[in-house]
Amino acid sequence: MYVIFEGVDTTGKSTQVSLFAQSNKNVLATKEPGGTHLGTKLREILLGGELKGSFNAELFLFLADRAFHYDTVVKPMRTTHLVISDRGFLSGIAYACANHSDIDGAFLLQMNRLALEENYPEKIVLFLTNEALIKERLGAKEHDAIEERGVSYLLQIQDIMRRIVKTLPIQVLEVDASQSIETIYRQIEEFLND
Ligand code: C5P
Repeated sequence: MYVIFEGVDTTGKSTQVSLFAQSNKNVLATKEPGGTHLGTKLREILLGGELKGSFNAELFLFLADRAFHYDTVVKPMRTTHLVISDRGFLSGIAYACANHSDIDGAFLLQMNRLALEENYPEKIVLFLTNEALIKERLGAKEHDAIEERGVSYLLQIQDIMRRIVKTLPIQVLEVDASQSIETIYRQIEEFLND
C-alpha cells in the first residue's frame, strides 16, 4: 500500500512517519522531495533558493523528483510494503497553486498524475492545524524560506489541500495536529488497518 502524509509545515508529519518506520510493520518510510539519491540533490536545489523566480523550472524539478521517486521507490515497494511518504503530489499541487494563483489546477493535477504513472496513493493522512498552533510551533523551530512567508500562507495552502482531497477518489483521514503524538499515532494506525 502507498500512503502519503500531508499537511503544511509544523503539523508533525515527519514525527509520525518516523514512528511508523520504527513500528516494525513492514513500513518503508520515504519523502518528497528527497526520497532518492537524485531527490537529495533536487531537494538541495529546490530548498536552497537557487530557482527563485523561475516558477516553471521549480515545478519541473518537483515533478522530476516525484516521477523518479514513484518509479524507483514507490512502484517496486507498494505491493510488498506499507510505503509511507512524508509529502507527495498533494503538496506538489497545493504549494504550486498558492505560489502561482494563475496556474490551472486541473493541468497541475494532470502533470502530477503523469509523474505517478496514473497511480494514486491508496490513502492520504491530512494533518490539520490552526493559526495559534502554527505560531507556537514556528516560534520553536528554525524558519526556512517557505515558513517565513507566514501563517496566512500556510493556512491558504491547508485550505487548498482540503479542497483538493474532496475531489479525489482516495480515502482520506483528517487529523487534528494539536492532539498528542500518541493519540495521532493511534488514529492513523486505525485508519491504515481499516
Ligand atoms: O516538509 P519538508 O521539510 O519536506 O518541506 C520542505 C519545504 O518545502 C517546506 O517548507 C515546504 O513548504 C516546501 N515544499 C514546497 N512544495 C512541495 C513540497 C514542499 O514548496 N511540493
